[in-house]
Amino acid sequence: MRVLITGGAGFLGSHLCDAMLAEGHSVICSDSLLTGRMENLAHHAHEPRFEFLPQDVCQPFDPGNIDYLFHFASPASPVDYLKHGIETLRVGSAGTLNCLEIAKKHNAKFLLASTSECYGDPLEHPQKESYWGHVNSIGPRSVYDEAKRFAEAATMAYHRYHHVDTRMVRIFNTYGPRLQIDDGRVISNFMKQALRGEDLTVYGDGLQTRSFCYVSDEVAGIVALSKSDEHLPVNIGNPNEFTILECAKVVLRVTGSASKIRFEPLPQDDPRQRRPDITKARTLLNWEPKIDLSTGLQLSLDYFRAAVHASSTATLR
Ligand code: NAD
Ligand code: UDP
Repeated sequence: MRVLITGGAGFLGSHLCDAMLAEGHSVICSDSLLTGRMENLAHHAHEPRFEFLPQDVCQPFDPGNIDYLFHFASPASPVDYLKHGIETLRVGSAGTLNCLEIAKKHNAKFLLASTSECYGDPLEHPQKESYWGHVNSIGPRSVYDEAKRFAEAATMAYHRYHHVDTRMVRIFNTYGPRLQIDDGRVISNFMKQALRGEDLTVYGDGLQTRSFCYVSDEVAGIVALSKSDEHLPVNIGNPNEFTILECAKVVLRVTGSASKIRFEPLPQDDPRQRRPDITKARTLLNWEPKIDLSTGLQLSLDYFRAAVHASSTATLR
């Protein structure tokens, strides 16, 4: 296949580029580099089946004939999407409509990277795909949450009205190598702080929960979904739930750091609990995650060490 991956220079998109190339496909990666980095793709510089297209996907463009479009472009960390609020709304809305038009024009399959944020601060726990969510449409996180909810609505509409062959994955907190150390997400912050011997910043009382999925598990789930015929959203995430305080302790253990924990204010509308119900992915895709948090952090340790080292030498220069 000839596959277009938007946002392919980002954390998840770059791992998806790797997976698609490994399956023997040709990959076009289109990215505006708003939050992504060319370093994530440097290992494909001499790969003839790989092409980088510098492109803001909110602007009309035509990549030529494609068989599959994976729409991953969007800031994803709360720090990034709060900084780029309007761009986030735009890429979820205009960007998604553009990508759906491209898929329609080329009769390509389409997969949307959606998110657990569609459930907002959920009142149902764990979250099943049938839950409609509890989202503050005017709160600070709404630039991301509502953009993704619009993107899901647009995807369903192109499926219903134009018969585009669509899929939607609701991704739950994913981490691993290439997560940017300055994106403010909890795993990048804690790993960076632990390796630098700084305090780990726990927001609020640290009793809010998240369920962390290692990147290879996440990508395997996405690839399995891309080959299925399911058009409704599917949760792909790890159902092992941790409080943020527990997560901090796992990071301290894995890094062997003597850092302390410091409490800071909880951001507005921070979801209190999050855990995917993955019954659908298990049944439909025969998929489930294999890597627990401790193992995943160990697998990420070399990357975070190198990234912390590079950022401190850049600061010294
Ligand atoms: P990321 O910030 O590392 O990657 C996003 C990529 O999109 C970047 O390379 C960025 O430059 C690019 N981009 C942003 N706006 C663009 C535009 N207008 N045109 C072209 N490129 C643009 O984030 P990520 O964690 O890799 O997330 C990738 C996708 O997965 C996003 O759609 C995100 O919403 C979704 N997702 C991720 C997670 C997670 O835990 N990582 C969770 C839920 C959903
Ligand atoms: N968090 C924290 N300290 C940090 C960064 C994040 O306690 O340095 C908390 C944050 O308040 C949230 C959870 O960790 O409750 C996950 O935050 P993240 O930004 O990784 O993603 P979210 O799931 O909120 O989108």
